[in-house]
Amino acid sequence: VTFLNLGLDKWVIDTCNELGMKQPTPVQRHCIPKILAGQDVLGLAQTGSGKTAAFALPILQRLSEDPYGVFALVLTPTRELAYQLSEQFRAFGAGVSLRCTVIVGGMDMINQAQALMQRPHVVIATPGRIKVLIEENPDISSVFSKTKFLVLDEADRVLDVGFETDLRVIFQCIPKNRQTLLFSATMTSNLQTLLELSANKAYFYEA
Ligand code: AMP
Repeated sequence: VTFLNLGLDKWVIDTCNELGMKQPTPVQRHCIPKILAGQDVLGLAQTGSGKTAAFALPILQRLSEDPYGVFALVLTPTRELAYQLSEQFRAFGAGVSLRCTVIVGGMDMINQAQALMQRPHVVIATPGRIKVLIEENPDISSVFSKTKFLVLDEADRVLDVGFETDLRVIFQCIPKNRQTLLFSATMTSNLQTLLELSANKAYFYEA
């Protein structure tokens, strides 16, 4: 199986090749066609399995067809993970002038609000900080009014009790007809509940 068989465009595959990615990993092989087909996905995959590319590549391909912002919101539990995700998105999206913003605690909130108002294509955030920005500025919630993809990376940790109220505020700003992509190292009861609530029948991938 090659990246071409998965339904990815030539420019995406060229970018992968330039980054030394010649063949899709199992999580990529299974999840990329489902994401391109519009399905919600719950993938159980460890760090190092290539899970970031499994959601970033199909998101970038869809974005290239109809580029507007904020196209995708990616939630992750820690600042470090947010920056790592943004590096991968920037590398994969170099060919399409991707505008990507990281919204995490410890950084200036006025700059973050301004960055969001510019409607970048992809927002990568920790739940706590993005929730505060949404609550403090009514203009910010409308930034997500056309968002097509919601990704929960390390979803088991993002869905942890500590983030519950943050998520409720965030989810209210994102259209119901979005695609939801959950990637987690382990299956938890919170994930099970979210999967059952999914409007779209979700595709379940386990290594
Ligand atoms: P992740 O599981 O998303 O943390 O990815 C781990 C690392 O594997 C990243 O540095 C990727 O650049 C790399 N990677 C992802 N997909 C592939 C692939 N198909 N072939 C080779 N390396 C890959």
